[in-house]
Amino acid sequence: MPVTFQDIVSAAARLEGVASHTPVLTSRTFDAMTGCTAFFKAENYQRAGAFKFRGAYNAFVQLTDEQKKNGVLTFSSGNHGAACALAGRLLGVPVVVVMNHDAPQLKKDAVAGYGAEVVLYDREEQVREELGNKIAAERGLTLVPPYDHAHVVAGQGTAGKELFESVSGLDVFVCGVGGGGVLSGCSVAAKHYRPEVAIYGVEPEAGNDGQQSFRAGEIVKLDRSPDTIADGARTTSLGLITFPLIQKNVMNMLTVSDDELLVATRFFFERMKTVVEPTGALGAAAVMSGKMDVKGKRVGIVITGGNADMADLVGRW
Ligand SMILES: *Cc1c(COP(=O)(O)O)cnc(C)c1O
Repeated sequence: MPVTFQDIVSAAARLEGVASHTPVLTSRTFDAMTGCTAFFKAENYQRAGAFKFRGAYNAFVQLTDEQKKNGVLTFSSGNHGAACALAGRLLGVPVVVVMNHDAPQLKKDAVAGYGAEVVLYDREEQVREELGNKIAAERGLTLVPPYDHAHVVAGQGTAGKELFESVSGLDVFVCGVGGGGVLSGCSVAAKHYRPEVAIYGVEPEAGNDGQQSFRAGEIVKLDRSPDTIADGARTTSLGLITFPLIQKNVMNMLTVSDDELLVATRFFFERMKTVVEPTGALGAAAVMSGKMDVKGKRVGIVITGGNADMADLVGRW
């Protein structure tokens, strides 16, 4: 397998003192509503506001001195870009981020705020990988992609490692999915600590390529980036590194609607007093809307990020 538990242990050592050990939140109200005992791994409190900093830093810190000096290019709808920008700032590596022009302003500002160069593209007309590869080749930059990279996946897996180390006896583990980096990485840690755990990935309904791939037994790619409020999961396919891990470790791939994501984000805000972006609520929304059997079970749920445009979100509630 492309990423092992030992890789996650090594990543955790690199991240020690740099990434936050995020808290695990509980809510009696959520438990009463769903009939389970839920433990939320709150990556909305991670540096740069999402789990992405774990993978980005783990990849950056392993670049050669030459690569660090020349700089990194990445493509991102937001959170991975901000994570790379921050990792670059901490390690003195110049960073270029190729972002879709309609990415949330908050996310564009975060990337620029950490000192990275932003290149905008139109997701209707250009393929970001092609544009990214072209700029990287022209300028001698090393590509650190958002999910299909062993160092990125191992870094994301440290969130799962921390959760399973701090909470015993989890029966179910639920995690949002874009390209599958956080789910696949965490699945390796989850199976290490708790081989019997039932792992579920959750995608937005409009972008269920992962569910289709899981069923077909091969990677299914969407023709275009899906329209969903879950802007961190507008990917068109799983990756060559993430898919085999998902096939091996995951019980099922589920979907939630944008309305279900809105209900979940509002619940976090009003009842748990915590800010979660729509993509960050994928796992919780699936549990809240009864997509799997969790009655009487101990359920670990990753809150993947908190970079919500609050004015926009409140307007939709
Ligand atoms: C990137 C992202 C995801 C999806 O992660 P993948 O590793 O691409 O599956 C989920 N939630 C948030 C908040 C993200 O930024």
